[in-house]
Amino acid sequence: MIGLLNELIFSRAPSPTRGAREESERSIALQGHRVDYKLVRRRGRRGVGLKVDGTGMTVAVSLSTSVADVEEMIGKNAAWVLKKLDEWSHRKVVPQTWQTGAALSFMGEPLTLMVDISADTTRRRPHVEQLMGHLFVRARSDAAAVIEGAVVDWYKKQALPHFAQRAFFFARLHGLTPPRVFLSSANGRWGSCNSRREVRFSWRLIKARPALVDYVVCHELAHLRHMNHSSAFWKEVERMCSDYRALKAELDAHDHKFRAF
Ligand SMILES: [Zn+2]
Repeated sequence: MIGLLNELIFSRAPSPTRGAREESERSIALQGHRVDYKLVRRRGRRGVGLKVDGTGMTVAVSLSTSVADVEEMIGKNAAWVLKKLDEWSHRKVVPQTWQTGAALSFMGEPLTLMVDISADTTRRRPHVEQLMGHLFVRARSDAAAVIEGAVVDWYKKQALPHFAQRAFFFARLHGLTPPRVFLSSANGRWGSCNSRREVRFSWRLIKARPALVDYVVCHELAHLRHMNHSSAFWKEVERMCSDYRALKAELDAHDHKFRAF
């Protein structure tokens, strides 16, 4: 898998059962710094989860965990929290807007969003078209959720054939049986694979330039031979993608730009 370790989980957290969830914005003083965080309480949650990313710190606990326990846990991990916040401070996720003129990135190229409200009642679904550096979205409403949904669908539609084609190409080139390729909606883990020879790529990766996609594809294909990050694994990555060190560094440094939506 590829991803940044930005989450500490202190005991196994079962998937939350349906029902109560509370969110509140809090702050705490850590080594002389005021740190704001979001406290998320969920019924059925066990243990405390600390997460730091481009949106700040999130703490996930059960409904019954006291604030004192939460603060004690954060305090015990103050060094980690401050280090992660510092790492993220220069790579904040800029919130995406969904009006005409908004900037998007597709395969490493900028695209300008153009929104057009259509009165055509025969066309129920939004129409999306890429043309000359613009992404035209025609929909019956310009509500952000409608435009975002249409754009995300369009990205996914472009992403799957591209990832599948690259995986097929590199697999054939390096004597591997091509894996089955799926999309994931992970926001932070660009690729993953399993022993059933299924490889998943986050559709968000299609925002990155093709060389970065190729690195992630080769990384996951190398896992078909080595299900770990051993030196043998990295040798295999290098064999498929000789430039992988620079590409990995570029992806790590810029991936926050691909996370806004
Ligand atoms: Zn990996």
